[in-house]
Amino acid sequence: MGRSVFIKKFKEGDVIFRQGDEGSCAYLIDRGQVEIQSEVDGKKKPVAILGVGDIFGDMAIIDGSERSANAVALSNCECIEVSKEQLSERIEDADPIVRFLIAILLKRVRSSLEENCTMEGINLGKKEKKLPSNVIQFRPKGRRGGLDPSNDDVIHKFKLERDLKNALEENELTVHYQPVVDLQKGSIAGFEALIRWNCPERGTVRPDLFMGIAEETSLIIPIGQWVVAQSCRDFTRIKDKFLGTDVANDHLFMSVNIAPKQLMDPYLFKTIDEAVKIGGHNHRELKLEVTERILLQGTHAYEWIKKARKRGLSVALDDFGTGYSSLSYLSQLDANNLKIDKSFVQKMITDEKTRMIVKTIIELSKTLNMTVIAEGIELERERDLLRSFGCQLAQGYLTGRPMSVEDLETLYFGKSKKKAA
Ligand code: C2E
Ligand code: CA
Ligand code: CA
Repeated sequence: MGRSVFIKKFKEGDVIFRQGDEGSCAYLIDRGQVEIQSEVDGKKKPVAILGVGDIFGDMAIIDGSERSANAVALSNCECIEVSKEQLSERIEDADPIVRFLIAILLKRVRSSLEENCTMEGINLGKKEKKLPSNVIQFRPKGRRGGLDPSNDDVIHKFKLERDLKNALEENELTVHYQPVVDLQKGSIAGFEALIRWNCPERGTVRPDLFMGIAEETSLIIPIGQWVVAQSCRDFTRIKDKFLGTDVANDHLFMSVNIAPKQLMDPYLFKTIDEAVKIGGHNHRELKLEVTERILLQGTHAYEWIKKARKRGLSVALDDFGTGYSSLSYLSQLDANNLKIDKSFVQKMITDEKTRMIVKTIIELSKTLNMTVIAEGIELERERDLLRSFGCQLAQGYLTGRPMSVEDLETLYFGKSKKKAA
């Protein structure tokens, strides 16, 4: 499926949809102007002129009723198609009061449209610019001058979401792997799978720029499943190359990040089981990294971790120390790994208190029988300090940046060299 399917082009005068039609999608105007018209007894009356950044056709898909007006292209237009799912899942996820307010507002808009219809119709010619006073002119003429920033955000979000969906279908997503080293032995203990997006238009997009939108929508579900499958496939190749060499430990693990919404994916464990089986792995070799944001899923989070652990999977608490990190959740969650966030690691050299906090977290993890992994080590001094505190594992630019499997192989074994042992 190409990007173009999400962009609909209309010529001046084209009827985009008619009053009474069933609504299957809404449209976000990216270029041109659209007139919304009420029609009574064949008499058309303009009720709004919309421009770049405006959305229309949304009411019918929000409340499942038929189109309440005609939409006609006033000039050559390009509109981004917004699917029913894109809007409805956001509304469903919203606070009940917000949903109630949306319902009330929709009712009001519909009744004001009906009132408009009962008033005398005014027929505007296609080219006519002047509108009667009761017509809502949402956008001033010209460029996006009147567009408020929040509207720009909406356009950006919808475009990103559309492109991301496409990226999954067009194989633009890839996974990079960052080595996690054993600080005591100095060899590689495992890898963390980190997603990358090679977007033809945007270049390489970092996950913090697109995983947010994936998490806001259900896109995180297929993306998350794909990451599990891909990293297990690559893990087979990695193990084949690294195991039995002096750069790696005798056993390796693969860490995969799991977003809070993925806890609601009923197929995630099945996907993991299949990927583990196909890759010839053992559940023990897989680590699932979750942040304390999973607590937003309530008690389900505790049960989900228990379920994962029962399968033999490791669970790591990621970014530890950045949120509210209460000790009670540490004791209640059945996780067996703890990752100290890079903000602590990078501050501990210069700040005595942070240094003590890191030391205490390492000691605490040991008492709780948790493996501790320090993130973001960039300096030898940081590595040495962590080692002296008894920290078992660490990852960071010092010991290896995230990279493709090919680059990992080249870096550790050279282009043509076969594995040592
Ligand atoms: P994270 O899980 O905390 O991953 C570690 C991040 O720190 C990675 O950023 C990594 O490239 C970066 N990093 C590693 N070593 C260093 C260092 O020495 N210094 C600094 N400054 N940074 C370092 P990245 O790859 O951009 O990922 C950002 C976040 O996106 C991840 O944070 C994770 O929350 C999320 N993410 C990445 N891949 C996935 C995925 O497949 N699924 C999910 N749900 N989230 C993912
Ligand atoms: Ca992580
Ligand atoms: Ca982290």
